Amino acid sequence: MLIWYNPTQPIQSKSVAIFLDRDGVINQDSPEYIKNVSEFKIFDDVVPALKLATLEGYSLIITSNQSGLGRGIIKPRDFWEIHFYLVNFLKANGCPITAAFYCPHHPEDGCSCRKPRPGMLMAAAEMFNISLNRSFFIGDKLTDMEAARKAGCKGIFVVRKSNAYYSRSNRLIFRNLFDAISSLSK
Ligand SMILES: [Zn+2]
Repeated sequence: MLIWYNPTQPIQSKSVAIFLDRDGVINQDSPEYIKNVSEFKIFDDVVPALKLATLEGYSLIITSNQSGLGRGIIKPRDFWEIHFYLVNFLKANGCPITAAFYCPHHPEDGCSCRKPRPGMLMAAAEMFNISLNRSFFIGDKLTDMEAARKAGCKGIFVVRKSNAYYSRSNRLIFRNLFDAISSLSK
């Protein structure tokens, strides 16, 4: 598990977090993997959404599978360049993240961090004293929802494609991140 955290970022007052998947939620995903910063395109609603979450007192924590590392498709140097581009972009726009957890493993490695396993969420909860049952995990895949369920936090589905085929029963599904986070504010 790869962990980055911001040592100067105070933990938000609520000790609740919004966990965020990265590819497909924050930036455009690709079946070819996001291999370098030139392929990393952040959606327009991300800054207003995360600013709202920050105002509401949520800590923002990214939890992302990055098996492109374990497969040798993404170079570590390019991976970290993307990471720091994102961190700096969000900080400059008034919605700094507290931490990012990445699983770099190949699916066949059998690690405990690759979603749908809850390892990254559990590690984040322990590290930042987060109340999982009051926290949310926003993702765009069923494996994200499964990780949320296993960790005991509420899964929120963001499906940006108009041809979504997922079952809509028993799930909160939103078309974008801003709508998802707006639903959490009172
Ligand atoms: Zn892993």
